[in-house]
Amino acid sequence: MNAATETTVLSDADKKARFNFNKLTKWLRHAVGDAINDFNMIEPGDRVMVCLSGGKDSYTMLDILLGLQQSAPIDFSIVAVNLDQKQPGFPGHVLPQYLSSLGVEYRIVEEDTYSIVKRVVPEGKTTCGLCSRLRRGILYRVADELGATKIALGHHREDILETLFLNMFHGGKLKAMPPKLVSDDGRHVVIRPLAYCREKDIARYAVARAFPIIPCNLCGSQPNLQRQVIGEMIADWDKRFPGRIESMFRALRNVVPSHLADPALYDFVNARADGVARADGDKAFDRENFAEPGRINILASRPDDDDGCGAP
Ligand code: SF4
Repeated sequence: MNAATETTVLSDADKKARFNFNKLTKWLRHAVGDAINDFNMIEPGDRVMVCLSGGKDSYTMLDILLGLQQSAPIDFSIVAVNLDQKQPGFPGHVLPQYLSSLGVEYRIVEEDTYSIVKRVVPEGKTTCGLCSRLRRGILYRVADELGATKIALGHHREDILETLFLNMFHGGKLKAMPPKLVSDDGRHVVIRPLAYCREKDIARYAVARAFPIIPCNLCGSQPNLQRQVIGEMIADWDKRFPGRIESMFRALRNVVPSHLADPALYDFVNARADGVARADGDKAFDRENFAEPGRINILASRPDDDDGCGAP
């Protein structure tokens, strides 16, 4: 291959990479925009506190929200917040450098929850429960200090489904992770703008944007094994049964209380035949018709799954 031909080939590859990256960006922006609209996550005048851990999800959330802020028909402000929990080896300079380079308002909160957790939790026991509770309290306090009206967390579609299965398998509850909800102290609104985004799209975006990722295992805690097992189960289904994950997520948005078994959600006790036809009534002997697998999508077009995207 001569030099001229090689230049042309590289140029085509760059073009394809740019095209794929633009498509991926467009898709993620649409998915975030749709979630924001569907759940009225951000309203005019909101001050959104974007919680940054240094992982791919929170970097992507901030990046997409900053992009949407430019084009949104409403005014809202963003303040990025990172909690430096003083885990050994935490590279405290990475996020301030990155956020300064963006010119975004930010606050780094330094609280040594690591020492507290190590002191209180017996050796060998998982530290994540106490650590998360401490983190939550601190972030709520910081939201008040900053006058934030919304607290944005970087959970995505797979996190939501994992939580659903964790609750079903281990908690005896049909409960996932809501895209928007008032916090447990009743004083804040928590939003999850990545709720419709696929984890693999976020991962590709993070690589393409070359975010300075901070590893999440600095505290030396055991990963949540149950969540990990469920995550692998979902990833395996996604590979083997195209459309299954989309269908499961759609199910979360399409609940039929009369066909579950919770008397608090549906008044089974007073169910009487009154001669009135109802769409959610029992079809008793009919078999359910299901769409072809792979043809159910929560939202229309998706980016390709190839890994050819590169930074523009
Ligand atoms: S992995 Fe470490 S930092 Fe993360 S929640 Fe668990 S204890 Fe806290």
